[in-house]
Amino acid sequence: MRGMCPFVALTAGGQNGWMTSVPEKPLSGPQKALRKLGLNRAIDLALHLPLRYEDETRLVKLRDVREGEVAQVEGIVRHSEVKLGGHRQLLVTLDDGTGTCLLRFFTFYPSQQKALAVGQAIRVRGEVRGGFAGLTMMHPVFKPAGGELARALTPVYPTVAGLPQPYLRRAVLGALTRAELNDTIPANFLSKIGLQPGWNLREALLFLHHPAPDVTLAALEDRSHPAWQRLKAEELLAQQLSQLQAKRERAGFRAPALLPVQGAAPASAGLLARLLAALPFQLTAAQRRVCEEITHDLHRPVPMHRLLQGDVGSGKTVVAALAAAVCIDAGWQCALMAPTEILATQHFAKLVSWLQPLGITVAWLTGSQKTKERRDMLALIASGQAQLVVGTHAIITDKVQFKNLALAIIDEQHRFGVAQRLALRGKLVVDALALEPHLLMMSATPIPRTLAMSYYADLDVSTLDELPPGRTPIITRVVHEARRDEVIERISAQIAQGRQIYWVCPLIEESEALDLRNATETHAQLSAALPGVLVGLLHSRLPTAEKKAMMSQFTAGQMGVLVSTTVIEVGVDVPNASLMVIEHAERFGLSQLHQLRGRVGRGAAASACVLLYSTGDAPRLGETARERLRAMAESNDGFEIARRDLEIRGPGEFMGARQSGAALLRFADVVEDAELLTWARELAPVMLDQHPVLAAQHVQRWLGGKAEFLKA
Ligand code: ADP
Ligand code: MG
Repeated sequence: MRGMCPFVALTAGGQNGWMTSVPEKPLSGPQKALRKLGLNRAIDLALHLPLRYEDETRLVKLRDVREGEVAQVEGIVRHSEVKLGGHRQLLVTLDDGTGTCLLRFFTFYPSQQKALAVGQAIRVRGEVRGGFAGLTMMHPVFKPAGGELARALTPVYPTVAGLPQPYLRRAVLGALTRAELNDTIPANFLSKIGLQPGWNLREALLFLHHPAPDVTLAALEDRSHPAWQRLKAEELLAQQLSQLQAKRERAGFRAPALLPVQGAAPASAGLLARLLAALPFQLTAAQRRVCEEITHDLHRPVPMHRLLQGDVGSGKTVVAALAAAVCIDAGWQCALMAPTEILATQHFAKLVSWLQPLGITVAWLTGSQKTKERRDMLALIASGQAQLVVGTHAIITDKVQFKNLALAIIDEQHRFGVAQRLALRGKLVVDALALEPHLLMMSATPIPRTLAMSYYADLDVSTLDELPPGRTPIITRVVHEARRDEVIERISAQIAQGRQIYWVCPLIEESEALDLRNATETHAQLSAALPGVLVGLLHSRLPTAEKKAMMSQFTAGQMGVLVSTTVIEVGVDVPNASLMVIEHAERFGLSQLHQLRGRVGRGAAASACVLLYSTGDAPRLGETARERLRAMAESNDGFEIARRDLEIRGPGEFMGARQSGAALLRFADVVEDAELLTWARELAPVMLDQHPVLAAQHVQRWLGGKAEFLKA
């Protein structure tokens, strides 16, 4: 029974085993925080590994401590005073017989002052600094001297507000004794990759939570220790198993085979061919290839699960339109979902201009829609009269009922949470026929193909590796903020030639207000410097209608400059815009910079991107910021940029944050642990076939409720 209550973790080690049968009490603050972190089951807590450790296992003498070290010292307080004037602070001199150390506290309570009174024997721990006054510790933690010393390193866990370390430590400790930690990986598989059977899951976890004091911290930090190796292998195996499972499951599912309807109504017959003929351009070879890959999938009675990746500007939208045409030709409905209203609006306009003349009805759904319009749209969708539906998240709300949806296309898929992608998939199940939908995900954040192939065991990948012809490469310049005036001069020269300009201000996450001030100031400055030019200001707080109006003025060419926060980051397509200025470029991530830059260089005119940077009070930019800007100046190629991003940031973060909307791998790193990944990839089918029970147990343990997510 106990295992069934998610909160046993909190009462364990505690007094009663009754909790499960007592009516549920409201959650305490820390309990809520645990939930927020997804730490529900004992095993979740056991797998919540420390970020770092503190050494409370030994005392050092002040004579022996080195600057910069975190040290634990015991001694007698020789002097204690509150210094007023300037910063009020409590200054305490500690003497351990071999030397003295000054303790400084800028905030303190009377009770603490008392505990630090002259003559008290105390134990303190903190980072030791040198300086005029000799050794100093700022805000060390302290307690009375003489207590027992820890026998293992003290774990410091990732946490959130309202969940103090001591509480979390107790919860993890309790969970470690309760969680089921039997081995799920058969021993003969372990030896293949040189994993030491001695480091089974239980040993590895006990060790990583409470390492012996003699371990080299380096091996723990770079995760090369055998205990870490074991954890990473386990995690990768879980990821591969769950994806393979999902893939096998899907192989058993049926989807509508989207073959052209014979003798269909003239409105939809031969739509694909008619659309191809009507397009104002020829497809690139890459577009033709991926269209064939997609069409091939759509013709089969098995749900497609494909990622279309291609650099910004590579022409993914038309591929989506052609896929939709295949679907509509077969007599089914198609939905296209985009992450922002601006982007959805633009897709809608483009698809309507391509498809409406061919007799296709395109419906439109967003959250900000008027009730009446929305009702009309819902009716069109439910009756099947709308063959294509374009919109935002509004598409996945409960109210929306399709008649026969067979293909869902998700643009900028990494922008959606996994749950949202899942919801869309759920929409597609055509209950009566027990059919699953085809799914096409599009992404402009390419990851190297080999990486994609081995990581996404459950996904087919199509790649647009060619840009439409006639584009002149974007020239990128990195310019110091001090030369802002020159940049503004350049803007007016561009406008004189009839061109349009984007000026992007950064998003400062901590403070939306500050963010806005920055953009507002820039807007005022540019308006003043460019008399007679319409300068717009676009930011996320504007009402939708105003955003739309702003965007359509810019699209129509009436507006010379559009100052904006990053709301224009994804997908926006205004071919006449030829200059992109990014302010505080040093604050942006590399792939975001590349996305932003991709807003220009979409027409025939030569385009440029200016990365304005500022070093603030520092004499120069930090190393990684400099590397990012250099990468931007040196390359226009999204795959190359992705490769550099990987180098600069490390792949764990790259894959986690960028590709899946949630960090799916916590411990392993697909590049660094490529060998383990290969091992897991090869082992997964064998496990599923020969040890299905262990495989299920393994996935359940590692992914628990999250396994479903991985299928999306
Ligand atoms: P992305 O891959 O970034 O979504 P888009 O689909 O927005 O790119 O396409 C960028 C621009 O290139 C659009 O203006 C589109 O109409 C145009 N385009 C797409 N394919 C071609 C092509 N084969 N030839 C010429 N222009 C094209
Ligand atoms: Mg796009």
